Amino acid sequence: MSQLKRILVTGGAGFLGSHLCERLVEAGHDVICLDNFFTSQKANIERLLDYHNFEFIRHDITMPIWLEVDEIYNLACPAAPGHYQYNPIKTTKTSVMGAINVLGMAKRCRARILQASTSEVYGDPEIHPQTEAYRGNVNPIGPRACYDEGKRVAETLFMDYHRSNRVEIKIVRIFNTYGPRMHPYDGRVVSNFIRQAINNESITLYGDGSQTRSFCYRDDLVEAMIRMMNSDAGFIGPVNIGNPHEFTIRQLAELVVKHTGATSKFIHKPLPEDDPLQRQPDIRLAKEKLGWEPKIQLEEGLKATIDWFRNINMSHYRPPTP
Ligand code: NAD
Ligand code: UDP
Repeated sequence: MSQLKRILVTGGAGFLGSHLCERLVEAGHDVICLDNFFTSQKANIERLLDYHNFEFIRHDITMPIWLEVDEIYNLACPAAPGHYQYNPIKTTKTSVMGAINVLGMAKRCRARILQASTSEVYGDPEIHPQTEAYRGNVNPIGPRACYDEGKRVAETLFMDYHRSNRVEIKIVRIFNTYGPRMHPYDGRVVSNFIRQAINNESITLYGDGSQTRSFCYRDDLVEAMIRMMNSDAGFIGPVNIGNPHEFTIRQLAELVVKHTGATSKFIHKPLPEDDPLQRQPDIRLAKEKLGWEPKIQLEEGLKATIDWFRNINMSHYRPPTP
């Protein structure tokens, strides 16, 4: 049985953060969830408020904060393109200033700290599948750069705090992850398709739908983050975390129609600028160092996500607010 710790989760009220908080609270840790609700709902953490070992702090991570903790999971950052492009300057500030603030805290507290980085550091990749050694193909001046470059600088800061100050860091590069509690209006492909299908609305394929993504179910992802945090101090990553089964966006749409029984038609919309054409993680490093690989495949995960979408009141979800 591992030692109980005081753990900070920034972005802890979000889609992935709230599940991570649940896992940590249920394991008995003292969990501090920090969030400004920019892209999330209080409902995501409502159930946790009754636990004696859970605490919520409403705070914007671009501002310094003084807490005493043993571990930090840094997830605060809008993740869906529609959310991170809403206020792109704030997105970069959240990644960069947020990283500086939590790394300063980790240095002072001698806390171990994990960064939720992203496959977007690879941009529109020229090698396939993507290994951690690939340095990426990000357009630094495009509409996705606020997110991609912010996350790249955050990785740089993590490495430099490690080299200069011996902060114990961990970096995971997360590939497209989906599941219950995704924001139904976040504009991401899984949430859009499921929402459209259960309302029998047209399903919007951007471009010809031949671009690919590899979809990881949230439980597999959260398990990998926890394993990474608890891995040997000598292993800092970056490590790819994702499900290597690759699908075209059209195949995803067909699966959503199959499992919702929708009568929706497919319509085409322009492919957004800099939209990566293909994406698939090489997860050999995660298998070797963390003994991890995803267990839940797309059809099973989609069914659970569709069930969740059918049972929420979508009118309770609001667009991002400053
Ligand atoms: P999410 O939008 O549901 O969660 C992000 C959370 O951060 C939200 O609760 C939001 O309110 C909070 N937040 C945003 N700006 C903040 C600020 N300035 N101060 C405090 N809190 C702030 O998204 P998610 O999918 O749960 O993503 C969580 C993390 O994982 C993000 O860092 C994201 O970049 C990373 N990630 C996610 C995916 C994915 O597919 N879900 C892929 C790659 C990386
Ligand atoms: N996409 C789509 N229809 C939608 C939403 C997204 O075809 O309604 C496409 C989008 O162009 C991209 C892929 O689905 O090629 C994944 O988009 P998402 O925003 O989920 O994530 P990201 O591009 O960040 O991987």
